[in-house]
Order: sequence, then C-alpha cells, then structure tokens
Amino acid sequence: MRKKRSLTEAIALVDANNFYASCEQSINPHLRNKPVVILSNNDGCIIARSPEARALKIKMGIPYFKVKERLNRLGVAVLSSNYSLYGDMSKRLMNLLKDYSEEIEIYSIDEAFVSVSRPENKNLHPWARKLRSLIYQNLGITLTIGIGENKVRAKIANNLAKNIDTSAGIFDLVRIENENNYLRGIPVHKVWGIGKQTSNWLQSKGIKNAEELRDMDENEIIRKLGIIGKRLQLELKGNKCLPIEKIKKQKKEIQISRSFGKPITKLEDLTQALAIYAIKASAKMRSQKLKSSAITVFARTSHYSTHSYQKSAYKKLINATDNTNTILKIVIALSKEIYNPEYKLSKAGVLMQDLTNNQYLQHSIINYESQENLKRSINLMTTIDSLNKKFNNKAITWAITKRSQEWAMKRNSLSFTSTTDIKKIPNIMT
Ligand SMILES: [Mg+2]
Repeated sequence: MRKKRSLTEAIALVDANNFYASCEQSINPHLRNKPVVILSNNDGCIIARSPEARALKIKMGIPYFKVKERLNRLGVAVLSSNYSLYGDMSKRLMNLLKDYSEEIEIYSIDEAFVSVSRPENKNLHPWARKLRSLIYQNLGITLTIGIGENKVRAKIANNLAKNIDTSAGIFDLVRIENENNYLRGIPVHKVWGIGKQTSNWLQSKGIKNAEELRDMDENEIIRKLGIIGKRLQLELKGNKCLPIEKIKKQKKEIQISRSFGKPITKLEDLTQALAIYAIKASAKMRSQKLKSSAITVFARTSHYSTHSYQKSAYKKLINATDNTNTILKIVIALSKEIYNPEYKLSKAGVLMQDLTNNQYLQHSIINYESQENLKRSINLMTTIDSLNKKFNNKAITWAITKRSQEWAMKRNSLSFTSTTDIKKIPNIMT
C-alpha cells in the first residue's frame, strides 16, 4: 500500500527544452522560430539544436566542418557556445523555480527536482501550467514538467511528457488510469539510475521496460544491485526513498581546464594559460567560501596525436589558501615542471584540491601567517572580487593575462547579446 504522504506531496522534475538554443533565441529575436545550432568548445561539434534545426534532421554530435556547407544552404544560424549566458539564464530559471515550489534540488544546468503539495482535488496541472507560462514570459524558455510521488517516477513522467504530443509538456503519473501501459513504453535503460551495464544485465533476464523492472523479483535485484537497486524498485512502486537534496554537496575539487584553439609549444604560452585558469579557479573558490591546500596542474597533447604526451605536477600547501597571488606563484612554478618543448600541447588545466570551508580554517603551527597578513589578503581579494563583479570581470586582473593569447579558444560565432553585460542589452528602436 502506498504511504499517505505520497498522495499529498508530489515531486516534479522540471526540465528546460533545448536549453542552450532557447537561451540564444530568447536574447536574440532574429533567431526565434529559426533553425539554430550551438557548437562545442573550439567550434568542434554540434551540441545543441533548436526544434527547427531538429526538424531539418541535423544530427547531434556531428563535427561542424562536415555539415558546414549544408547548414549554410539551409540557412541555419550557427553559434559558438556562450556558457556565461547559459549559466546566467540557469540562475534566473532556478530562482523563479525556488519561488514556485517548496523544496528544490538543482540537478543540472537546466533541470531541477522540486517538491510541491497536492491541492485537495489532487490536480497539479494548473500549478504546472502557471509555472510554464511564468518561465516562458520571463525567460522565453519552454519547460517540460513530469510529476510523480518521487524522483524516479518524476523522471519517468518527464520522459512521457516529452514524448506524448497531447501532454502539452506536462504529465502527472499519479493521476492516470492505465499506468501499466505507460510504464511498459519506457525502456529499462531510460529509468533513472539504470546504467548501461545494469541495463544489459536486466535485458539478459528478460526485463525490458519499467513495468517489468517494478514487478521483478526483489531478491534478485538486491543480490545484484544491493540497496541501491532495492530503493529504485521501491520508488518505481510509488514509495519515496530518495530525498530532495537541497544543499549542494561540498565540492571535493575545482577544476578549470580548456582545449586550446591552437596547440601550444612555448613555455610562456603554457604558463599564461595556466595562470588564467588559476585566476578563475581562485575566484570560484572564494565565491563558494572554499580554500585549497593542494594544487595540481596538467597538460597533454591531443588524443589524436601520434606523438603523445601528458604530465601533471602537484604541490601540497602548508596553509590552505584562496589568495590568487599565492596560487599564481605555485601554478607558474609547476607549469615549468610539466612543460616539454618537444610536444604540441592541446589542453591544460589546474585543479584546486583538498578543499575546506574558509570559515573553519586550521592553521599550521610551523608556518603560521600573522592575523594581520591574513586580514590584508582577505580584504584585497574581497575588493578585487567585488570590483570584478561590478564591472563584468574586466576591472582587475593580473599582468600575465594581458599578453596576446594566440592559443585561446576559438569562438568565432559567439552570440553578440548577453544577459551578463550591461552594454550588450539590446536596444529597442521605435
Ligand atoms: Mg533539457
């Protein structure tokens, strides 16, 4: 028997449709109702498509150079990925969702689980319809909303909402008559939490869809998948086992890495790239109130290179830090350790490791920084961060970033307008 609680509290999986393409269409009216594709870093492959581009049967993941001519012929708008725009739109989306639900777990850049109470008549469609129009009005983004008693069933409902044309983007798995018919239509590998290996094992046992998985022998699942499998099956049956994880788990490390637009062969270029990543990583740590006590840098050649090389270097710190100056000194020294003039490096990165919350900092007795120095360092970094926040990351940076960056990522078709730069707000002509 289902618990009473599951009848009054619902979980919805809210997912933005064609998120990257929708963001671009939202800020640039010329792109609305037109086919749009977004390219990966260095303008390599197609990673997102608007519905209009999908309709033209343009494939996902295909290298850009292979379809460049065809896209041109079809009049498809081609854009480099603009992650600052997508990140900013995501933040706006999640803030609106927060106001419109009881609890929220941000699951990815364009997806969140939310919990809501069912009204007395149990009908959540009015809530979902309102949420969809609120987000469309504010952000120009269309949502798909799947509703269930728990996360696993909300995911299934979302899948159904996407694939059933008459659903109008909303599907409530709790309020349907013939649930088995729907669950039968969900292949087992589409059930949340079922990976490729598990799916192969289930297929070999003759379990092909969500209905069969729900009804299969519990002991067999437990023997193979343990408690995780049992929880998944219980959720399929309508019990609630997986809570909404409101607080983001503390990150174990922060990594900033990029592929270069052009391979690097000079030490000064590698050092400059790593320094820029270190500046970004340090700011990111401070924004999350973290400090690092170990730093790794790495560089490697392309995966396709016949003359391949990869190397990393690591430094453990005595005092955890979030100070960009300290981190830069270390990263610049480490870059010399991984540089090798014989190779064409195509990617490099920095990792901030052993992260701790900067509120509970333990100082080493051996190398105790004076309180005054520490205070000065905090003040300096806080000032830099707040100026950069105000002036869109352009106010203060380090001299090393200023030399020309020939290796920098190709972003030839970056969307002009952005929601993160006041100067780029579109003008309305009357
Ligand atoms: Mg999506």
